[in-house]
Amino acid sequence: MAVRLDSENNDYLEVLKSIKNDMSTIQKKENRNEKQQLSIHELREARERSAKYQVCVSAGSLHTAGLKTDGTVIDVGSNNGRNISSWRDIIAISSAAAHTVGLKADGKVVAVGYNNIGCNVSSWRDIIAIARGDHHTVGLKSDGTVVTSGGEGTGAVEDVNNWHDIIAVAACGFNTIGLKKDGTVLENRRTNAIWKNIVAIARGYSHTVGLKTDGTVVVECFNVGTGADEVGEWYNIIAIAAGSNHTVGLKADGTVVAVGNNTSGQCNVTGWYDIIAIAAGGFHTVGLKTGGTVVAIGDNEYGQCNVSGWQGIGPVPEEVLEQLRKKLEDEKRRIEQSNQWINQGLCRYCGGELGGLFTKKCKSCGKKK
Ligand SMILES: [Zn+2]
Repeated sequence: MAVRLDSENNDYLEVLKSIKNDMSTIQKKENRNEKQQLSIHELREARERSAKYQVCVSAGSLHTAGLKTDGTVIDVGSNNGRNISSWRDIIAISSAAAHTVGLKADGKVVAVGYNNIGCNVSSWRDIIAIARGDHHTVGLKSDGTVVTSGGEGTGAVEDVNNWHDIIAVAACGFNTIGLKKDGTVLENRRTNAIWKNIVAIARGYSHTVGLKTDGTVVVECFNVGTGADEVGEWYNIIAIAAGSNHTVGLKADGTVVAVGNNTSGQCNVTGWYDIIAIAAGGFHTVGLKTGGTVVAIGDNEYGQCNVSGWQGIGPVPEEVLEQLRKKLEDEKRRIEQSNQWINQGLCRYCGGELGGLFTKKCKSCGKKK
């Protein structure tokens, strides 16, 4: 009996040993793969792929919003003055606090939020990117200049309206940052640009985050001791996001890393995979998966993490976008033509001559003036 036990035991130990060896080999292999630094070219490709998706998820302190491939927007969390269900033709979204901003395919912007603070954006044109702070909205124009709404007296928009050569904007709280085409970063209330070789930016309440061409990340923390700047070990990062006091990085392999304040579990993203875009709210973190579903973790006091039922989140397909732009262009031309006819005293529908002193019926199409 004892012998058999020993022999079984020995066999068992042998098996364990071989498993352990295999595991160690796999682990070593994985470590080696993981440590493999992607080339600048590979990183750029992955970054550009992700960038299309980065504009499809956004998070404020109290809510989370998602852009669907049909150009509509859905959201969860506190519904403080927001009603975005009627939005159409949206190609990018940005959120902060209880506000959400949407960029339309025709370069116009829609905005909703608590008391409509900073939501006066209806006159904006030629916008290519948007960012939302607590009291202000930022729009990047196609000519590289920046427009703002709200934030007066908070310093959030100070100097921002003089910026030029900007290719990306970010905002949070009372702050605005802009990425220049030379790879440096501008910040409100600050005269000198910081950093270089930056390709993407994010702003938290207490920190500014920059993604570098080589896939590493730099952080400037104004609130010491949060740990939101402990990104020194990060590599192969293709997208970044910033919450109140935490920093999130998306890796080229679809996994996610996060550091900083973790009081709500907002940094517990180690199990995430197949992620194509990320967003950070005040105390929660959001990940868009390659299949168009969304995961979220952290503070759920207002239901801002209840995204498990979401589907079809992602950019509007390029061919649909093209049709949409053509439709909008035709519409614009039609209105211009109609206005021209009205000014000339002609029929607004067909440009025909109007006859009859009182009815003013069109001689050509028969419609009334
Ligand atoms: Zn007519």
